[in-house]
Amino acid sequence: MKLVTFEDDRSARVGLLSGERVVDLSAVHERGGLGGDVSPDVWQDMLALIESGPEALARIRRLERDELLGGGHLRPGEALPVESVRLLAPIPRPRKNVFCIGLNYADHVREGERITGPLSELPRHLTIFTKPPTAVVGPGDILAHRGVTDALDYEVELGVVIGRRGINIPEEDALDYVFGYTIINDISARDLQSRHGQWFKGKSLDTSCPVGPCIVPAADIGDVQNLAIELRLNGRTMQRANTGQMIFPVAAIISQLSLGMTLEPGDLIATGTPAGVGFARQPPVFLRPGDVVEAEIEGIGVLRNRVADSP
Ligand code: MG
Repeated sequence: MKLVTFEDDRSARVGLLSGERVVDLSAVHERGGLGGDVSPDVWQDMLALIESGPEALARIRRLERDELLGGGHLRPGEALPVESVRLLAPIPRPRKNVFCIGLNYADHVREGERITGPLSELPRHLTIFTKPPTAVVGPGDILAHRGVTDALDYEVELGVVIGRRGINIPEEDALDYVFGYTIINDISARDLQSRHGQWFKGKSLDTSCPVGPCIVPAADIGDVQNLAIELRLNGRTMQRANTGQMIFPVAAIISQLSLGMTLEPGDLIATGTPAGVGFARQPPVFLRPGDVVEAEIEGIGVLRNRVADSP
C-alpha cells in the first residue's frame, strides 16, 4: 500500500497510489465507500490518518483488495491519473523538526574521513541533528540557493514515520511504533554545514528535505534492514547500498532517540546515508540548476526532484 498526499485544483488530501493512478480517498469516502464512522479529516490529512489508529488503514486495505485488486471499479473521478495531480510530501508540514541520524553507514563515515580527518573508531552513539518543517518538500523542486551556498549535496536515506506515542521505548518493541516508511533526501549545504560548527544551518535551507513520494505502511515492508537503497544524479548512480549496512538499525535509532524524549505520531526520522555523496568525491560533485536527483528505496519507490534556480 502506497499512501500519498496530493493536490489538484482542490485542496490537498490523502490518496492511495495504485500504479499510474491516485485513488482520491476523500471522494470514495463521500459516496460511503470507506464506511461512515471514521472522521472525514482522516482522508484529507495524513497526520490525522496516522493519529487515527489502525482502523483507517484497515479500510484502505479493504478498498485496495476489493476495488482495485478484486476487479471492482471505482466511480468516475475517484481514480485520477498521477500525472494530472501534484504529489506533495506525504506529510506536507510536519509538526516538529525532522530527526536526522548522521554517520550511520560505515562506508560513508570512511569517505567523510578523507575530508574531515580520521575518526579513532566507528561511532558508538547516534549522531543526531534536525531539519525544520520549512525544509520539507515533496517530489518538487530543490532550490539551488545560489548566493547562499556553492556546495549543495544529496543524501538518500530511509525515512521512518512514527505511528504511536512513546518514551523510553525498548529496542525489541521499537518497530511496533512505526507507522510506515518513506524516502528522504537529506540535502546538505556543505559550506554552511562546516562553517557554523553545528550542522543545523547547512541542513535546513528551504526545500532541503525532499520526502516521498509515498508512505508504505510498516506491515507492507518485509525486513526493513534488507532494502536496496540508491541515488542517481542525472541518471548516473552515485549511491548504492542496502539498509542492512546501517551501524544503528531502525529499532536502535527509535529506542535511543526516545530516551527521555517523547516520540509522537507523525514524527519523521531520517536514518542516515550510505557512501557516494558529492562532497567526498574527487573532484567533488555538487548540485546545479537543471540537475535531476532520483532517490530510490526497494518497496517504496523513487523520489524524483529537479534542482531549480527559483520555484
Ligand atoms: Mg544525512
